[in-house]
Amino acid sequence: MNNLPRAEYRTVVVGGGIVGLFSAYHLARAGAGPILVLDRGFLSSGASGRNGGGVRQQWETRATVRLAREAVRDYRRFGREFGYNPWFRQTGYLFLAESADELARLRRVHDLVRSEGLASEVLAADALSRYVPGIAPGSAVGGTYLRSDGVLYPFPAIWGVYEAARALGVDLAFGVEVLGIDSEAGRVTGVRSSAGPVATTSVVNAAGGWSSDVARRAGLDVPNVATRHEILATEPLKPFLDPMVVRASDGLYFSQTVHGGLVGGLTLPHPAGTAAGLPSSAKFLTAMARALVGLLPRLRSLRVLRAWSGFYDDTPDGLPVIGEDPRLGGFVHANGFGGHGFMLAPAATRRVARAVLGERTDLEPELFAPDRFLAPRLPSTAERLLLG
Ligand SMILES: Cc1cc2nc3c(=O)[nH]c(=O)nc-3n(C[C@H](O)[C@H](O)[C@H](O)COP(=O)(O)OP(=O)(O)OC[C@H]3O[C@@H](n4cnc5c(N)ncnc54)[C@H](O)[C@@H]3O)c2cc1C
Repeated sequence: MNNLPRAEYRTVVVGGGIVGLFSAYHLARAGAGPILVLDRGFLSSGASGRNGGGVRQQWETRATVRLAREAVRDYRRFGREFGYNPWFRQTGYLFLAESADELARLRRVHDLVRSEGLASEVLAADALSRYVPGIAPGSAVGGTYLRSDGVLYPFPAIWGVYEAARALGVDLAFGVEVLGIDSEAGRVTGVRSSAGPVATTSVVNAAGGWSSDVARRAGLDVPNVATRHEILATEPLKPFLDPMVVRASDGLYFSQTVHGGLVGGLTLPHPAGTAAGLPSSAKFLTAMARALVGLLPRLRSLRVLRAWSGFYDDTPDGLPVIGEDPRLGGFVHANGFGGHGFMLAPAATRRVARAVLGERTDLEPELFAPDRFLAPRLPSTAERLLLG
């Protein structure tokens, strides 16, 4: 006996963040129920409720550009499809280069993005102040800009997919931890949870920063590593900034919300793993203040309202893991999204649903399949534009 609506489900999704919710939604739309989503926290307690809302299509990997472009289309029609407005503002992403080498790298991204039909632009140093009013002279040698990139509010997106999944008959249980995944003869047979056992033939590992932990509970070793990232929100300013601004050198990123505050972060080295929890640090506040004021001296007196942190789920090659694990039939990965899972979720999880249904996907296996780490391949296929 368990405390869940049923004792048996066709699929159990571990993790009720944006990836788990969208996976359940696409599966339910494909008529592949009954489906259960289990999350040990509350709705949006993971990275999905802690991120910067950036949605970009500028990537070094063609496959990721394509996934992101599809996701942009999904978010553009999100309000009509889900009845919640995530305020997706296509006001662009501006990448800043501080050196000729960085600019050359951004140019290569620009060439790839343009070859995919997206209207990316290369900006000279003197054009930057049009997009970032008040930018300190000499702080960047140029940049790239793609107007159709943008920013959204994560919470209405989460609510929209949550409600839509429920309306399609998906059962969702929060405050329920997956403790173990059972198997027989190399195939998933069930899940042991804090609310009791559930029989199932497929499990989706959408546990974000805890995905390696959940894989271990199925007896599988994966190379995913959780890394903590900090982020802050400031008091509101009069509207002055349209794009999400990202600096290639240190991963500084920030955008201005509809409310007027800036939301942004910076990449700092933190010990890997989830054991230390999710504190915020004075080191981050100082580094962020230095970086922001150095770039935009007008922000000198700006006050920070809140700071928080969340886990990225990083893979060795910077690409997500999507597909059935070759070592355990019915165990499907939907993880490894690093700092970019929100923007890729609607499109990537279409492929997750197909993988659960045993259908072929259009994803290159050498880029996304879990077995790429079992038989390592050339590093040239890695995604390295892991910023903002
Ligand atoms: C500071 C920060 C800024 C970011 N900025 C952006 C951005 O601008 N754009 C973007 O696209 N992405 C961004 N990201 C990344 C993005 O937030 C994540 O990639 C995305 O939210 C991952 O979604 P998820 O559903 O896979 O994981 P999560 O939202 O973390 O959900 C995983 C869930 O699994 C649950 N869980 C874990 N273990 C178990 C278990 N054993 N049993 C049951 N449940 C379990 C957790 O409680 C959690 O709710 C950012 C992340 C951070 C931290």
